[in-house]
Amino acid sequence: MQKAIQSVRGMRDLLPAETPRWRLIEDETRALLAAFGYDEVRLPLLEPTTLFSRGVGESTDIVEKEMYSLQDRDGDSLTLRPEGTAGCVRLGLQHGLLFNQQQRLWYAGPMFRYERPQKGRYRQFDQIGVEAFGASDPALDAELIQFGDVLLRRLGLREQVALELNTLGSGDSRAAHREALVAYLTPLREKLDADSQRRLDRNPLRILDSKDPNTQALLKDAPRLQDFLDDASQAHFAQLCAHLDQIGISYRLNPGLVRGLDYYTHSVFEWVTDELGAQGTVCAGGRYDSLVEQLGGRSTPGAGFAIGVDRLVLLHEAVHGAWPGPALDVYATVAEPEQAGAALAFCQQLRAVVPGLRVRLDTAGGKLKNQFKRADASGARWALVLGAEEIAAGKATVKWLRESQPQAMLGLDELRQMLTTTGPG
Ligand code: ATP
Ligand code: MG
Repeated sequence: MQKAIQSVRGMRDLLPAETPRWRLIEDETRALLAAFGYDEVRLPLLEPTTLFSRGVGESTDIVEKEMYSLQDRDGDSLTLRPEGTAGCVRLGLQHGLLFNQQQRLWYAGPMFRYERPQKGRYRQFDQIGVEAFGASDPALDAELIQFGDVLLRRLGLREQVALELNTLGSGDSRAAHREALVAYLTPLREKLDADSQRRLDRNPLRILDSKDPNTQALLKDAPRLQDFLDDASQAHFAQLCAHLDQIGISYRLNPGLVRGLDYYTHSVFEWVTDELGAQGTVCAGGRYDSLVEQLGGRSTPGAGFAIGVDRLVLLHEAVHGAWPGPALDVYATVAEPEQAGAALAFCQQLRAVVPGLRVRLDTAGGKLKNQFKRADASGARWALVLGAEEIAAGKATVKWLRESQPQAMLGLDELRQMLTTTGPG
């Protein structure tokens, strides 16, 4: 026997019992995106590596140690997308969608990061990304947050998730703060954790994000970004907070929220839950007014966020438990192999006259008794028997699998009537 092959570490299979919950979340999100006037785009999984080193930032965790990069046969360096925003901006620039225009775009699909796999953290994971270009007004930031609020409500998860909010200010504010932060931390360099020492030269803002208690203690008196915000940055953030107040969305101000990607300016936000342990952020984003320029376009404001679908699925499971009910309504059995052709035809007529009805035909054959065992295990509410007598009459015998109701031989029309007028089981 050959050794069986396993999936790649951190890359999961989703089994039939899990996919309906994924569909629920994806379908709700798509429907809501349409309701907010967003258009779908589809992005390649592979992009030039430089897109991410320039777009996400050389000194970010993603670019430093999480990318799946490979050499194409002609020597080009390609990378499996670790996130979608940079690719979405590339798409917009390449097709002339961004400059002097308003765009509301979304995309969905797998992202790839070489991380330490654990619950809620995988090497292939799914995001639904939402990006809006061309508006610098804080009303856009507020609307993106409003979207998250409505989506979580629709999924019955709003009570378990809180909004955390911060502002990074304009590029100028950030630069001034960065200088002060480096001046403050440089004499303390030896006392910082190893990661923070490295970040001091490359990406000092990320030190604020350190989980190391010593480093956190040293940061107590560090220069605060809020004190470096220029007037315009302050006004932008104040207006966002006012909008949120007006639409009744409460938030926690979190000055330590700096986000892992370099491209953010002004508002950054995360939707966070306590129900998933350390991997509690289900949705995260912010404004990125300098990203388009950084990727070679003319200056265009933008803002967006990404939904971590894997984590939203985990949260839905934690909150709502087993879901959904059985995936079948009708399980059709066939008495003799000769009747299989007629059974194929009958089942399809039934699907056609009862839209949405889920009918599975037993094609494994064998004794009716065994077919009935499979019908029972399938979760279906009804079994049909298609035998010689039924086929000759153009009918099927209906048996109730979950309720004590008399069985009956019914024609297609009677069957349709019965199936569409029965209440919930
Ligand atoms: P984290 O701090 O958890 O690593 P991040 O800041 O790297 O998250 P983003 O790049 O902003 O995350 O991605 C947006 C969302 O995508 C996250 O809030 C999370 O829900 C999800 N996500 C990110 N990385 C992973 C992963 N490795 N596995 C599963 N979901 C992920
Ligand atoms: Mg990360």
